[in-house]
Amino acid sequence: MLKCNEVVERADAYLATELSSWQRFQFNLHLMVCGYCRRYIKSFKLTQKVSEQLSIANPPSDKDVSALVAMIQQDNQRVK
Ligand SMILES: [Zn+2]
Repeated sequence: MLKCNEVVERADAYLATELSSWQRFQFNLHLMVCGYCRRYIKSFKLTQKVSEQLSIANPPSDKDVSALVAMIQQDNQRVK
């Protein structure tokens, strides 16, 4: 079973479908039992979508992206 921090580390690869089918299976298994990571992935997808849209008109700086990620992480911690 993956740990939460492993899910967080691999969220990028997971969403970019760079994981092998076995890795994806483990990932999905973890998401099934872990509400925290489900929320994280959901927020992560949203962040990607937002940054894609932003990058078309006006690429966000690394600082902006980090601020957004920090905001989402804080939100997750509150709920947990
Ligand atoms: Zn988890």
